[in-house]
Amino acid sequence: MKKRIVIIGAGASGLAAAIEAARTGADVIVLEHTGEIGKKLLMTGNGRCNYTNTDMSPAHFHSHSDRNGTFVQTVLSAFGWEDTVQFFRELGINPRIRHYEYDEGGYVYPASGEARAVLKAFLSEAAFLNVRFFCGCRVYSVAHMKDQDGRPLFQLDTNQGMVRADSVIMAAGGAAMPKTGSDGKSYLIPSAFGHLMWEFLPALCALRCVGSFFRELKGVRWECGLKLMIAGPEEGVSRDRKREHGESEADYFAFHQDGLLEESYESRGEVQFTDYGLSGIPAFQLSRYVSLAVKLRRERHILLDMLPDYSPEELRQELCRRRDKFSDRNAEILLNGLLPEKLGRVMMEKAGIRANLGVYFIPDPLLDKLAALLKGFRISVLDTNGFDSCQCSAGGIDTSEIDPETMESRLIPELFFAGELIDVDGDCGGYNLHWAFATGAIAGRSAGKVRRYRNYPERFETNSADYQDPEEEA
Ligand SMILES: Cc1cc2nc3c(=O)[nH]c(=O)nc-3n(C[C@H](O)[C@H](O)[C@H](O)COP(=O)(O)OP(=O)(O)OC[C@H]3O[C@@H](n4cnc5c(N)ncnc54)[C@H](O)[C@@H]3O)c2cc1C
Repeated sequence: MKKRIVIIGAGASGLAAAIEAARTGADVIVLEHTGEIGKKLLMTGNGRCNYTNTDMSPAHFHSHSDRNGTFVQTVLSAFGWEDTVQFFRELGINPRIRHYEYDEGGYVYPASGEARAVLKAFLSEAAFLNVRFFCGCRVYSVAHMKDQDGRPLFQLDTNQGMVRADSVIMAAGGAAMPKTGSDGKSYLIPSAFGHLMWEFLPALCALRCVGSFFRELKGVRWECGLKLMIAGPEEGVSRDRKREHGESEADYFAFHQDGLLEESYESRGEVQFTDYGLSGIPAFQLSRYVSLAVKLRRERHILLDMLPDYSPEELRQELCRRRDKFSDRNAEILLNGLLPEKLGRVMMEKAGIRANLGVYFIPDPLLDKLAALLKGFRISVLDTNGFDSCQCSAGGIDTSEIDPETMESRLIPELFFAGELIDVDGDCGGYNLHWAFATGAIAGRSAGKVRRYRNYPERFETNSADYQDPEEEA
């Protein structure tokens, strides 16, 4: 009899897992609780699907539990960007590599520039391999037991009845953009099996900041250097947290106190100013750290370098040169052509220089103040834009409990994990889809292997999941 593999979630990782598992000859069933397959995949890369990146350095991935990066490194060694490109070539999707300023790598898209094409390729291959999809099928819980021959067996309780499986691949996503189906509740199933979870936090999203001037700057796009500064923990706060959240949360706090939450994080690129704060890729890259700082109640602000190509001294000299050259004109000419007009106006105001003041009359201290503001304008950060609009979530299943060579649980045999559900999140640039495809493909291949369970340990025998979604119950 064929091995039956049931995959929970028909997103990026679930689809890759389904193809690879079916290629081993297994009977593959995919359960998806929304009415649509690959809903989020269609939205990726603004509908163009940036599916991997030619710079696959582990430094582009972040995790609470994989502190030395070996988990990520093992996965990337087994499934690098060339493997993702090859995987899609075999499905008929040729790559198109785009290079952007300030990024070492090349962003890989389908040649047609359509996420739709990627989904269609998946569905066509899945149909060819007889993968069966059940949409509108929500998995409530998973029970784990042995069959009469002593092999692992799973029973999934769904809104469409019980489903039996020899292996289960959990590819149910994180908590980013719940309207696409990943509602953040997926962690309850592995938790019920005793897996350690790191709380999901929003990553890759815009930042809400303090400042009425943002209304004036709405719509401005400008290349900046960003430095996120996070203040150290306050004694009182840390004690409160330990009391409030018990041991595991205290560990979590202690862990960050140990130095993993560094003092500053930098990014550079085109910032999009909105009426509430900062958006665009450089703001997105910092958002996971803002989420952590908010969670740990640490003060945070961003220093915005609006002219990153100038050193502070070069900028000062440039402003002095302009003051001399345009000495008989109004101050509004000082930043003309150096910065977008709206940004220049706000910076002049912040430096206390009136636009109708004669350039000649700007004293050195004011000019220095303006130069300092342009190189490090301090903005207080309130929070991220939250789960509803983020592209990814940080947190998930602790990596120490998953074998990175197979993606199998170290606690429950024949239970596999893939995608965003694992405690690894990537930068913007194709890293999260790469992670989903790489872990999905590895999980699918591993789950497809038929193994003998001679010394199947007793402690795995009963683990019936007991999660009941409170909303569903109501
Ligand atoms: C707007 C947007 C743009 C993005 N663009 C890019 C990009 O260009 N490049 C990139 O690398 N990354 C991008 N990302 C991130 C990337 O899409 C995700 O990291 C990736 O899709 C995660 O894949 P996944 O399979 O782990 O989860 P998901 O794609 O979220 O899939 C999980 C699936 O599981 C289903 N599910 C959940 N719980 C259950 C349950 N109990 N029963 C049954 N089914 C369940 C969900 O409905 C969902 O379909 C983007 C994200 C967004 C939101």
